[in-house]
Amino acid sequence: MSLAYDVIVIGGGHAGCEAAAAAARTGARTALLTLDPANIGEMSCNPAIGGIGKGHLVAEIDALDGVMARAADKAGIQFRLLNRSRGTAVQGNRAQIDRKLYRRAMQGILKQQENLTLLKGEAADFVLDTQGHIAGVETTDGRIIKTGAVVLTTGTFLGGIIHQGEKQWPAGRYGEQTVVKLSQRLRGLGLAVGRLKTGTPARLLAGSIHWNRLQRQEGDADPRAFSALTNTLIGQQVPCYITRTTPQTHAIIAANKHLSPVYSGQINSVGPRYCPSIEDKVTRFADRDGHQIFLEPEGLDDPLIYPNGISTALPIEVQDAFLRTIPGLEDVRVHRYAYAIEYDFLDPRQLWPTLESKAIPGLFCAGQINGTTGYEEAGAQGLAAGLNAARKAGGLTGITFSRDTSYIGVLIDDLVHKGTEEPYRMFTARAENRLHLRSDNAAERLTTLGMEVGLISSERAMFHAKQQETMERLKKAAIELAWTPMQLARMDITVSADGRRRTVLELAAKNHITIEQARGLCPAWANADIMLLERLKAAVYYGIEQERFALEVGQLGDGGLLLPADLDYAGVAGLSNEERGKLALVRPANLAAAGRIPGVTPAGVLCLLRHVRIEAKKGKMTA
Ligand code: FAD
Repeated sequence: MSLAYDVIVIGGGHAGCEAAAAAARTGARTALLTLDPANIGEMSCNPAIGGIGKGHLVAEIDALDGVMARAADKAGIQFRLLNRSRGTAVQGNRAQIDRKLYRRAMQGILKQQENLTLLKGEAADFVLDTQGHIAGVETTDGRIIKTGAVVLTTGTFLGGIIHQGEKQWPAGRYGEQTVVKLSQRLRGLGLAVGRLKTGTPARLLAGSIHWNRLQRQEGDADPRAFSALTNTLIGQQVPCYITRTTPQTHAIIAANKHLSPVYSGQINSVGPRYCPSIEDKVTRFADRDGHQIFLEPEGLDDPLIYPNGISTALPIEVQDAFLRTIPGLEDVRVHRYAYAIEYDFLDPRQLWPTLESKAIPGLFCAGQINGTTGYEEAGAQGLAAGLNAARKAGGLTGITFSRDTSYIGVLIDDLVHKGTEEPYRMFTARAENRLHLRSDNAAERLTTLGMEVGLISSERAMFHAKQQETMERLKKAAIELAWTPMQLARMDITVSADGRRRTVLELAAKNHITIEQARGLCPAWANADIMLLERLKAAVYYGIEQERFALEVGQLGDGGLLLPADLDYAGVAGLSNEERGKLALVRPANLAAAGRIPGVTPAGVLCLLRHVRIEAKKGKMTA
């Protein structure tokens, strides 16, 4: 059968863009079918990309020549490296994004992508062949488009219902249609469909805010691009502002909580734990007298402000009342009120690690439909699903990303094996190997694989090869130079007097000297790119840390290590609130059982191991 397209991607959100671009890059004839091509690249909620964990995913997408990092660099209007004072493994690049510029950049990149056609329409059904394999897509206007594989990336649109107080109406996003037929069809095919919810805050008019009463937050003086291929960012960087809810805000919310659909019983599905609504925060943290709000611009020439931290589903009169109790917002005017949305998702345990459906060969799923939340999580899955859909259509075997070498692997492995009961977002703590999975070495971890599977352009391949060559040269030069502790002492550099010679690289990695001092000691480093020197330094530093970590992980081999039934999880340092809650609920008998609880991360298991060892030393527990 001759195909119209090798791959059809349904949905032009963050998963769909990445999936379509990835499939097309490998040479597959690809169509991106979406409700409205003018909305391709729309950011449904916060105007920002990256952060801790999320920024790592963006770096990996870029290392595989994906599109998100390049589009974000064309639209970033305030860049900040989060966790700057901590090690590079847990730092995350984050940027405020100009929505319009992002859409324009994404649409521009996709329009230029060879082998890719953008189609307008609503997918209503799948065409299956006699063996139940994907053979095509049928649209609501009666078109049948033949294909070898489909990537489904419908976001919050399947059975989407918006809630605002008692009011509710069908929509996929504010002002956009809901998708009913495909939702029914997925149920008809016997797939396990669940419901999740998420929410977004009001959009405020900038001109009605008293900015002079607020704390200003600038971006970094040395903004870092997301993409290794970006040379220059937009010149104009804008500030954000910080304010807080007040006891009056909380009093209004508490008095009207019963009007929120989450508390009235109108919504039963679970929302994102790490982006709770303001009514959730006021209820869960009743002892707090304020919650921080970041006022983020939606664009350079956009009059709207996104108040990050106060998403809600309360009625609009209550929203008006509580907003005006917040410093700076006393006279605020609202452009669009906050709302919550419920939508269908598919249990991701129905997928193979290639993101292909176990029940319907040729159907791949990515993004919010798999139970995740966030643009970056969606983009990462989209890339993997697009690649594998193209390979399926071409008769090739699928590619599985390993959790040892990428956050993409951690994300997919978690989803397809553990599933999720709440919108899943990425954290560095979810990875066992987080000392190795750094943004700075994403290209070293993934670009070669990308080249082998045809994802990488010749421009990036050449750039990567040149960088690797330069790094090797810089490393060799820095290893060749070494000094004894006595020689170092004469240069005012103090190390322990063990007679061992130390190289420039080791001295820099262990912070005995700064990069600037290292440049003075090693002529080859004198004019080298600071980012490459930082990468070399991090590779050595984290190599040492990894050995220490491996030792501890080795101790985890003793998964039978018993956990006391009355263990006070609130007192275990390093656990997240989610982990504390889940461990206290389940009270696992041993360490291995703790690790199997969905939501308990590998880093959390290590925290438990350390806690038990420390308590055992104090004689309070046996280990
Ligand atoms: P989307 O970006 O939703 O894209 C789906 C695409 O599929 C759209 O282009 C749509 O037109 C298309 N489509 C759907 N059905 C069909 C069909 N049958 N045929 C053709 N095209 C179709 N994330 C966070 O990280 N934090 C938050 O606080 C947060 N809050 C949110 C609040 C709201 C109100 C919403 C709507 C989303 C929120 N998100 C939040 C989620 C974030 O927007 C998503 O995680 C991300 O956009 C998911 O990307 P996606 O590609 O899976 O889906």
